[in-house]
Amino acid sequence: MTKCSLTTRRRFLKAASACAAHVALMATPFPAAARSLWSGRTQGQVAAQEPFGRLEKVGEGLWALISTPLGGDYTTVSNGGIIAGDDGVLVIEAFQTPGGARWIAEKARELTGGWPTHVLVTHYHGDHSNGAEGFFHDNEGPAIHSTATTRDLKVSGLATDAPAGLPRLWADVTVVPETSPDTLDLGGRLVTLTPRKGHTASDVTVRLPEEGLTWCGDLVWNGMFPNYMDAVPSQLSRAVRAIQADGRGTYVPGHGPLASPADMARYLQIIDGLEETARTARREGWTAEEAGERHTIPEELGEWTLFNPSYYQRAVEAWMKEWAGNLK
Ligand SMILES: [Zn+2]
Repeated sequence: MTKCSLTTRRRFLKAASACAAHVALMATPFPAAARSLWSGRTQGQVAAQEPFGRLEKVGEGLWALISTPLGGDYTTVSNGGIIAGDDGVLVIEAFQTPGGARWIAEKARELTGGWPTHVLVTHYHGDHSNGAEGFFHDNEGPAIHSTATTRDLKVSGLATDAPAGLPRLWADVTVVPETSPDTLDLGGRLVTLTPRKGHTASDVTVRLPEEGLTWCGDLVWNGMFPNYMDAVPSQLSRAVRAIQADGRGTYVPGHGPLASPADMARYLQIIDGLEETARTARREGWTAEEAGERHTIPEELGEWTLFNPSYYQRAVEAWMKEWAGNLK
């Protein structure tokens, strides 16, 4: 074990304040070294490249959007993707801004010949959902799919002065069942939507079994330590293991570059290592803050960027909260 990330963390401490939403914390562009973690790790053929992200072709009629917000452009922020079938086009995620949603819809039309017919929002966090209206023109647009829990969290979180169309857009979502996997037929292409939980009270993963491709939402992060803001850590741990067990292949994480099975194994070590620190903190009577300061990531797991320097502390807090039985 080494303190390899301490210098980097200190630098982030200066650059970031301590408020809740990680997007607000990215107002200062990250150091070039951190940015290069993502930009240098392209795997697929690049179909489009923008300051805020790149669209990588990951199969026939399949593209993954890998967002690169560390340079300071927050048009999309979260990863996502495009899945084309004979009868429809599914976009995964609605992104941070309407401009980001519109951009991917235009790319979908360019690449597939059709405007998206479906959009799946994996969970309610703003960087995955705030842009939904960008898919619409004169009230015409795709069916937005989310679980009822995600819909309700989204509706209750809308500002009271939000434009009237927004509550309507969210109230009208096509509901993804939360009890068992569901299938979306795009014509010659069946997409499995699996309800899970752990990053938030309701997360959905999107899987193409034949292609061995899974969009993981924010249950999986790659090269970046995850946000535990709403997490129930034991559920998160189980969900990640279930995603891994569902099949080996390519995983599109919620944040960071495309992940291989080896990257998934590394990510599990990251969340297990944090659990270990939280258990030590409980045993030794450390506060979450002390535990966050003491937590390290072993050098062999590589460099993991923190969106926010308090993310270790927040993760330990999530464990402590779960152990205290104080679940939201
Ligand atoms: Zn996210």
